[in-house]
Amino acid sequence: MTANGINVPFVDLRAQASELNDELNAVFESVLLRAAYTMGPELAEFEAAFADFCGAGFCSGVSSGTDAVRLALQAAGVRPGDEVIVPVNTFMASAEAVSHCGATPVLVDCLSETANLDPRLLAEAITPRTSAILPVHLFGQPADMESIGRIASDRGLAVVEDACQAHGAAFRGRPCGSMGATAAFSFYPGKNLGALGDGGAVVTSSADADHTVRLLRNHGEEAKSVHEVVGYCNRLHNLQAGFLLVKLTHLTEWNNARNVAARRYDELLASVDGVTPLETRDDVRHVYHLYVVQVDDRDAVRERLGDGGVQTGIHYPAPLHLQPAYKSLGYGPGDFPVAEALAPRILSLPMFPQITAPQQEYVVERLAAAVAGGAAA
Ligand SMILES: *Cc1c(COP(=O)(O)O)cnc(C)c1O
Repeated sequence: MTANGINVPFVDLRAQASELNDELNAVFESVLLRAAYTMGPELAEFEAAFADFCGAGFCSGVSSGTDAVRLALQAAGVRPGDEVIVPVNTFMASAEAVSHCGATPVLVDCLSETANLDPRLLAEAITPRTSAILPVHLFGQPADMESIGRIASDRGLAVVEDACQAHGAAFRGRPCGSMGATAAFSFYPGKNLGALGDGGAVVTSSADADHTVRLLRNHGEEAKSVHEVVGYCNRLHNLQAGFLLVKLTHLTEWNNARNVAARRYDELLASVDGVTPLETRDDVRHVYHLYVVQVDDRDAVRERLGDGGVQTGIHYPAPLHLQPAYKSLGYGPGDFPVAEALAPRILSLPMFPQITAPQQEYVVERLAAAVAGGAAA
């Protein structure tokens, strides 16, 4: 607790859990009563509902967003030895999933305005080994799917959407999850649609791709004990699917609340010097998984905010080419100037559907003070 007793968490999952307490307990009791934990009716029902939500024909529930990205790539035809183009400023899992396919992530820089993949850099990143482009709808804002799609179709490449932060987002009216050959979603608890544990889904309008994901996620099993291919144990559990089905009915309302909160931050920050929010394109539906601003002297600002009871995040502190795990890709400092310039300046402000106007006013008041030099209010 701070001196004035105000604390603003970065995300507040307890607010959501208490709203849904009875409905979630009913799911738990029903699954426990039947004692049927995998590949059951909750899963099928959730898959149908989420495919519909995404405006796509098919959805397969899987074990995590990371597994969903890998399965989405595999189902889109990515094979060992291929190259897949990935934005350099994304969560580690986007690139990890490419590596898990036995393929190599080829990194590209982002746009300074939105931090999304810069489509102008795709042409020079494509080689004869490239099989797919993995745009990430970063922070809940769709990537420029028009430009990316045009280059991909000219060059015969698959587009696989990493929609792990973009449940309910849309580009020019087309829902995220419906634009690529396949798309991956994460249901990690803190995502816009989160399970009570790990989970993910692959969404596609291709029956073949969906069939591949269904085989791979469950040991390559077509009929009982007949293994068509070497697969994985990548199932989404009935319990999580049941919880997700409950939460899906609230997702649009929560995404609307995130948009209201984002507009409020925009307005409050308009009169604060030294704080620049990332831009939102006017042809997208952004779902504000994160609300990200840029400030000078970010680490000091962040510490002062923490002292004032305001929790923030950094997404992400280092672009992927500077991560120890990807040293082997052979990139170095200076290779991705836009992402490198953003990394030390970005700060993710508290954002969740239940955030209140007084909480946001307090965040902005503390942020203004922190940027001005940390004078205590
Ligand atoms: C969260 C996330 C993932 C991975 O999802 P998990 O469910 O945590 O495995 C992949 N890509 C992006 C962009 C993410 O934000």
